[in-house]
Amino acid sequence: MNPFTYERAADPQTALELGARSGAKYLGGGTNLVDLMRETIEHPTALIDVTSLSCEIEETGDGCLRIGAGVRNTAVAADRRVRERYPMLSEAILAGASAQIRNMATVGGNLLQRTRCGYFYDDAAHCNKREPGTGCDAVDGFNRMHAIFGASAACVATHPSDMAVALAALDARVTVDGRNGSRDIPLVDFHVLPGETPHIETMLEAGELITAVTLPAGIAGRSCYRKVRDRASYAFALLSVAAVLEVRDGLVDDVRIALGGVAHKPWRANAAEAALKGGPATEAAFHAAAQAEFASARSLRDNAFKIELGRRVITDTLVKLTALQEIR
Ligand SMILES: Cc1cc2nc3c(=O)[nH]c(=O)nc-3n(C[C@H](O)[C@H](O)[C@H](O)COP(=O)(O)OP(=O)(O)OC[C@H]3O[C@@H](n4cnc5c(N)ncnc54)[C@H](O)[C@@H]3O)c2cc1C
Repeated sequence: MNPFTYERAADPQTALELGARSGAKYLGGGTNLVDLMRETIEHPTALIDVTSLSCEIEETGDGCLRIGAGVRNTAVAADRRVRERYPMLSEAILAGASAQIRNMATVGGNLLQRTRCGYFYDDAAHCNKREPGTGCDAVDGFNRMHAIFGASAACVATHPSDMAVALAALDARVTVDGRNGSRDIPLVDFHVLPGETPHIETMLEAGELITAVTLPAGIAGRSCYRKVRDRASYAFALLSVAAVLEVRDGLVDDVRIALGGVAHKPWRANAAEAALKGGPATEAAFHAAAQAEFASARSLRDNAFKIELGRRVITDTLVKLTALQEIR
């Protein structure tokens, strides 16, 4: 590990001043960043601890729920308002990592955790994300876990967060503070596709600090988070589905679907949603919508199974959510 300094920011303004220095990085729970520093994949010269900032979950006047970036993952999953109004978010968080890691991990850090692509972690391998311009060994390598949507010749890595997939389906907004003030970014736009610059993973500009994630008011329907993985716990998603479905008189009134484990970012299933809205809430329609979504998928040597898996998990999830509405 390279030498670095450590400072705890007492307030957001101080954090921004310290975070603007060259080589500085914000520190959340450290469950990803410190691992990457040990592996010498990340080498900040200064860590700015932001875990004592933005630690509240608050109602906003307009019925939204604002979750501070410093709130621990365990606290979000356990919050009564989250469990009652956004149960899918609790499910997604609880499907990730372990209880000990969730106790440490923060909302801001979870969004910015880095890919689990094995070639990114292996400094003997070529990786454009770790070292821009060196190539991507995953493209022709062992790529069972890798992307089927939105990948490029430069990078086929996936985003590993479960929480972010639920937030994408919920149309959450990310609030960030920078030297030019505060701005809100829709979660679906926050992470970016790799293109030629896979080392750029989000819309964040240098020194910007995530301060909160806001969940919108009035999301109708039943929801759930389904995660398919190699082990029943403590494993990243091969593929996951976050879905909210509202059925009225047998027709799909509202539907939101996001996928995890398939792209460089949480993948909003826009094609499936468009195919479903206003149509019949039947298994055949769900299957056709899933087909429409995966029509644009492109598999690699080892991950074609994700296409059929994804179609089936979307269909099955929507069938289950419909049945839950019928017994409401
Ligand atoms: C063994 C293991 C298994 C795991 N399994 C899963 C899993 O199944 N699903 C899953 O989703 N995750 C999983 N994780 C990942 C875990 O969820 C992340 O490590 C965690 O969420 C990161 O949060 P953190 O607060 O510790 O971030 P840190 O490690 O502190 O930081 C991560 C990044 O975020 C930046 N950062 C932190 N806070 C801010 C802020 N407020 N503003 C701007 N930048 C900030 C840091 O500079 C750093 O770049 C696993 C981790 C481990 C170690």
